[in-house]
Amino acid sequence: MATIFSRIIAGEIPSYRIYENDRFFAFLDINPLAEGHTLVIPKVETDYLFDLEDELIGDMMIFAKKVARAIDETMDCKRVGMAVLGLEVPHAHIHLVPINDLYDIEFSRPKLKFSDEAFRATAQRIAAAIR
Ligand code: 5GP
Repeated sequence: MATIFSRIIAGEIPSYRIYENDRFFAFLDINPLAEGHTLVIPKVETDYLFDLEDELIGDMMIFAKKVARAIDETMDCKRVGMAVLGLEVPHAHIHLVPINDLYDIEFSRPKLKFSDEAFRATAQRIAAAIR
């Protein structure tokens, strides 16, 4: 059965899309640690990020860098932190989280809630800053 992220890529489940190319897809995390918390995923379905082929994981980092720069430019943060967990969704992904301190990327803390409109606006702002 397709993972929830493959269903998002296919458009069967809605998402706040930021950017994509033929191999990767970036969209807002639905339970964010911060405004602009983004997930970067490969379109190919692989559970564990570190099982990806060298070339694919390398290109995924370059794709993530492009998205991270756009997050940096548009969100109120000192840096964009990056994390790999994969404990919930068995489809490789990188978390990009705008951070101002250590606590901002503490995954065990309560997640933020945003309205549909706010999620949309955030995704649009980041997407517009992709170069
Ligand atoms: P992890 O697998 O890295 O532990 O966590 C998976 C992440 O995916 C979580 O931060 C969770 O909020 C996010 N997530 C799970 N299901 C969905 C979904 O349907 N849409 C979006 N946008 N994010 C999701």
